[in-house]
Amino acid sequence: MTVSITTVGVIGAGQMGSGIAHVCALAGFNVWLHDLSEDRINAGLATINENITRQVAKGAISDAERQAALARIRPALSYDDLSLCDLAVEAATETEAVKRKIFITLSPSLRPDALLATNTSSISITRLAAATDRPEKFIGIHFMNPVPVMQLVELTRGIATAETTYESAKEFITKLGKTVTVSEDFPAFIVHHILLSMINEAIYTLYEGVGSVEGIDTAMRLGTNHPMGPLQLADFIGLDTCLSIMQGIHEGLADSKYRPCPLLVKYVEAGWLGRKSERGFYDYRGEHPVPTR
Ligand code: NAD
Repeated sequence: MTVSITTVGVIGAGQMGSGIAHVCALAGFNVWLHDLSEDRINAGLATINENITRQVAKGAISDAERQAALARIRPALSYDDLSLCDLAVEAATETEAVKRKIFITLSPSLRPDALLATNTSSISITRLAAATDRPEKFIGIHFMNPVPVMQLVELTRGIATAETTYESAKEFITKLGKTVTVSEDFPAFIVHHILLSMINEAIYTLYEGVGSVEGIDTAMRLGTNHPMGPLQLADFIGLDTCLSIMQGIHEGLADSKYRPCPLLVKYVEAGWLGRKSERGFYDYRGEHPVPTR
């Protein structure tokens, strides 16, 4: 029997966690949003407010729907606040040690029958499941960025994931109005395996001096009809996240063709993480983005 999901906990209130909380609340789920501090939760709530208000301005939803959705999201200051959840979705920083620690400390606060999911882009679902007290109730639910806009969600079973967990997760995604694709448990699944390999190649193209930031992005936008250049997209995803994903693919597949570009490493070491830190392949501190190389 599938688990009937009405209350969702979201751990991590960054780009993805706030987006997940946003779409869940709009679809009628009660949401508890957790992060490391009240300030970070409030920053996530402010992002949700901003994005949902933009949807009203565009006529996609009514103001009453906006208000009802916002009222459904509550801050979870501790894991105890997640004890009512039918499903907890982890969307914290893409570091395996961080995620493992969350699962170990969170699991005792969850109801025994609650489902647990991760939004990881690259870490093995089977390995993360092993850090929980419920591998059969654990699944990868991989939303795309920005969550309110993107239609696709990848579902990935770990080796122990029960069929009822998969069916419940699929039902949940369908209620969000999104489309499921199934990926096997390989590093970066389908979308990010392909996408991040392309972004890494674009950074190599910059590193090797084949083109400038603007040249590469213009080439891919106008030459392949991509809506955004790969370096602009990397800034949007977050360069730390891009690096973690590439490292995950490189280590997971043990193939040197996925070696993260040294220039990507350098940007991350500088703390130039893209839009979220106002500098990456572009500088966002002025009125218009300016290429940094
Ligand atoms: P982000 O840096 O915007 O947000 C991460 C949040 O996690 C931060 O607010 C941070 O404070 C919080 N956090 C860190 N440790 C925590 C802990 N112990 N408990 C609670 N919160 C904690 O990152 P993001 O882009 O939102 O990525 C989150 C996850 O989603 C990652 O696993 C990433 O791979 C995945 N993802 C990202 C994208 C993307 O395009 N950015 C797309 C799909 C999936």
